[in-house]
Amino acid sequence: MQDLKDKNILVTGGAGFIGSNLCEYLILNGAYVTCLDNLSTGNKKNIQDLLNHPRFKFISGDIRELKTCQQACKGQEFVLHQAALGSVPRSINDPNTSNEVNVSGFLNMLIASRDQKIKRFIFASSSSTYGDSKKLPKFENHIGKPMSPYALTKYINELYAEIFQKTFSLDYIGLRYFNVYGRRQDPDGVYAAVIPLFTKKLINHLSPKINGDGSYSRDFTYIDDVIRINILAITTKNKDSINEIYNVAAAGRTTILELFNYLKKSLSKLDVKIKNIHPIFGQNRPGDVPHSFASIEKAERLLNYKPLYNIEDGINKSINWYWNDLSKKKK
Ligand code: NAD
Repeated sequence: MQDLKDKNILVTGGAGFIGSNLCEYLILNGAYVTCLDNLSTGNKKNIQDLLNHPRFKFISGDIRELKTCQQACKGQEFVLHQAALGSVPRSINDPNTSNEVNVSGFLNMLIASRDQKIKRFIFASSSSTYGDSKKLPKFENHIGKPMSPYALTKYINELYAEIFQKTFSLDYIGLRYFNVYGRRQDPDGVYAAVIPLFTKKLINHLSPKINGDGSYSRDFTYIDDVIRINILAITTKNKDSINEIYNVAAAGRTTILELFNYLKKSLSKLDVKIKNIHPIFGQNRPGDVPHSFASIEKAERLLNYKPLYNIEDGINKSINWYWNDLSKKKK
């Protein structure tokens, strides 16, 4: 993509799931990419193929250190800020660390972006900001009260970005991601996301646990659609599209039980034994929003964003990667 050629772009959290996919795309399209990551939930193996690339630089550092943020932002034109501690349960178990990284770290990145004259600060917000609002679909300007410390940190991010724009003219675009999935999403650990978690269980012939009765629904978004909107956020020339918050979703509604069945169907083609696995049902988790389903009208109108993958297409695209990665580790 010509628009990205020779641009200097900082990706924080670039060794994580979404960040590493962004780094890879940007490098393939001619940008100079700096990745800042403390490898707390990310992994160097996600960027292994980029480490020796002449246009790629890895900084091992923490966004909780302002000096590190200042150094990383030096000479950059755009920031794609992905570094954060994800997961609602993690933020309930340890609200202090989530706040330090997601709020203080975010503020450091804003200060550094202002000081280093970044052209546009593009950041990962979250569908969790809709909180207890029951309205469906979700429109950007109608949010409820946050239901977890994580959701609160992401909402604070949006408010801080707006304040920095008004006070210091730092331009921003905030992207409210809705349940992103795809290659390199970590299936391990207690805070793993639902798609890699279920996939890992199924590949190991174990029953995934559904929290609740499986009727909660999500708008699952394939990683390539998330990459595309980040690129649109960098390249947009439409003045009205800047200093705005956008839903990033597939605009589809899938219950957790339906998701389980799609994964089972797709994986059964690779291993027939998976056909006979049934889920276990548990309690709903505190802080979980019952339903999440986005309107993407604003992103379509102002950024020309169109998701290319519904849940079945995305799962079918992801499954080979999951299969190769997870079957290597199969116990
Ligand atoms: P991830 O955990 O794979 O990536 C986050 C990265 O940030 C990791 O590489 C981690 O090591 C790094 N990081 C964490 N704390 C850091 C610190 N203090 N200093 C430097 N680096 C640090 O998660 P992801 O799914 O790729 O999420 C990326 C962003 O998107 C996050 O901001 C997350 O809140 C947001 N988001 C993700 C989803 C989703 O479904 N995956 C949904 C909504 C929002």
